Amino acid sequence: MTATTERKFDGACFCGAVQFTLRGAPEAMGYCHCESCRKWSAGPVNAFTLWKPDALKVTRGADHIVGFSKTELSHRKWCKTCGGHLFTEHRPWGLVDVYAAAIPGFAFSPGVHVNYQETRLRIRDGLPKLKDLPREMGGSGVPVGE
Ligand SMILES: [Zn+2]
Ligand SMILES: [Zn+2]
Repeated sequence: MTATTERKFDGACFCGAVQFTLRGAPEAMGYCHCESCRKWSAGPVNAFTLWKPDALKVTRGADHIVGFSKTELSHRKWCKTCGGHLFTEHRPWGLVDVYAAAIPGFAFSPGVHVNYQETRLRIRDGLPKLKDLPREMGGSGVPVGE
């Protein structure tokens, strides 16, 4: 038994057929402005929360989950009934991006904007902006202006 009480958060797809839980805390949170996120989500930015894969457990409707991977880096998952996006497995990084919009009870607290050189929506919130990705994720780690 650890000193801190483990936190648990509930998530679901758009229709509710798929339900999942997250335990603990994410490794990182922020906004991605890359073209892949924009094209796949049909939105101007992606609000991401990155977790260790064992933090995520699908509790209902696993048979509704389908996926697509354009590159080995990103295995994208959604609900085949409603089309609602769930998460993307970034296997080479050992992380899973659970979309902030799919976990309404979780206090999303972004710390960084990544791939800001590709932005279509400038967000002047004072948070650090990276040209591409942090160095530990294969990027340059170079900061850029808002
Ligand atoms: Zn659904
Ligand atoms: Zn992206």
